Amino acid sequence: MLIDLHCHTWPRSACSALEPLELARLAAERGLDGICLTEHDRAWAPDELEALRAAAPIAIFHAVELTTDLGHILAFGLPAAAFSASAREVAAAAVEAGALLFLAHPARDGLLRVTRETVEFFVSVEAANGSDSRLQNIAAAGLAKGFRLPGIGGSDAHTAAEVGRAATRFAGRPTSDADLLEALRSGAYEALLLD
Ligand SMILES: [Zn+2]
Ligand SMILES: [Zn+2]
Repeated sequence: MLIDLHCHTWPRSACSALEPLELARLAAERGLDGICLTEHDRAWAPDELEALRAAAPIAIFHAVELTTDLGHILAFGLPAAAFSASAREVAAAAVEAGALLFLAHPARDGLLRVTRETVEFFVSVEAANGSDSRLQNIAAAGLAKGFRLPGIGGSDAHTAAEVGRAATRFAGRPTSDADLLEALRSGAYEALLLD
């Protein structure tokens, strides 16, 4: 099952030009089975998420991309009450909630800020990012090998042209956010750049 684990939609991510349903339709056309909404620093309201899921042609998952002092973090399974700009606070909350943290686009800027101690906050990194360069993705994929879980992949789409450029292929077929978290925890997936 192919899921794009990094997408931004308007208006919840002000920098995105993609309406949620448009994103879902484009992702379906381009062969994806699901997308995970990762807006910047904010969660979707549960009722709005439910309405989108009912209308979308593919599976919709929900996580977040947090802007922190260690760079951008993709957080899966983290309650909105724990969103913070302090990576240390986010990491403590993730342990408590059983959430998983991946350092986003690590070769763009993030890893430079991570120390021997704070690298422990992350189970892995984003190894394939559709908005990064080929060299940045090669570097990120190399970095992912140093972590306990494989790297993830996502388009980081903000516009129609970027939809479907990268994704994560799962061995299983997650159908809920809880399933997705378990699938990530299992390590049975791989990051892919698509074209
Ligand atoms: Zn980012
Ligand atoms: Zn992003």
